[in-house]
Amino acid sequence: MSDDAVIALDVGGTGMKCAVVRPDGTVHHAERHPTRADRGPQAVTAAILDIAAGLAERAGADGLTPIAAGVAVPGVVDEATGTAVWSSNVGFRDVPLRSLVAERLGLPAALGHDVRVGGLAEARLGAGRDERHVLFVAIGTGIAAAHVVDGRTFAGAHGAAGEIGHVIVRPGGPRCACGARGCLEAIASAAAIGRRYAELTGEADATAFDVAARAAAGDQPAASVWQDATEALADGLLTAQALYDAGTIVLGGGLAEAGEALLAPLRAACESRITFHRMPRLTRAALGDTAGCLGAALLALDSVADRP
Ligand SMILES: [Zn+2]
Repeated sequence: MSDDAVIALDVGGTGMKCAVVRPDGTVHHAERHPTRADRGPQAVTAAILDIAAGLAERAGADGLTPIAAGVAVPGVVDEATGTAVWSSNVGFRDVPLRSLVAERLGLPAALGHDVRVGGLAEARLGAGRDERHVLFVAIGTGIAAAHVVDGRTFAGAHGAAGEIGHVIVRPGGPRCACGARGCLEAIASAAAIGRRYAELTGEADATAFDVAARAAAGDQPAASVWQDATEALADGLLTAQALYDAGTIVLGGGLAEAGEALLAPLRAACESRITFHRMPRLTRAALGDTAGCLGAALLALDSVADRP
């Protein structure tokens, strides 16, 4: 129907991106709010419900009819029951967010995992638009992936599919937050790149972007850290390619903002390692930090479309 709209929220560790979205994916109205996770999961949940209700009201005032709501959260998400099971940065422990939102708004609701819904949006509306088999890889504080086939994501049996950041690419390598050694994200996440550069130089404030820029300018420690990271990423992505045979790998998250400084050495490292697998197209995400919010909107639309 022409006046339909969905309410979408992407809840992150620091901020929430929220919008009223039309069925064709266009954003009618967007707002951002601080998450303020320090106030505790109950207060964050209350804020989510208030913001969602406010957006539904706003849609109605603008002559639109809200038909569903979608919420994306980080951490472990049980999409089948609509529960935010566990999140280190927001503090959720078994919060039945889907039913809380549905009850408050009187609308069907859907709950999704932030990286998976980001992948959904990139695959359907963004950089993977023309491709049936898309692997979305978000590289930020950690590294996680979403496998999307024909516009559908797969959460796995326990909601934990796509944890590519914990594929061990350097056995015996640096310790990862998960407890293992040599995980991809212990070498190639934005956080790991900054940390490894600090270990080499004693300079604690350099970000992954600073390392990329210094590597390009010929700084030796930076070049070495950057090369280690891109080679580890190539090994991780080729492991994923062996499993999924993606047509396109879309790189998102903060580190992808480095653009060709990341993509060019990564392509070269993949090409030099690949054997019989087919090389995927490697490209940068197109939707930036709105992917999660748009993906939450798609989830909401799907939840209505899937109803008998
Ligand atoms: Zn790990």
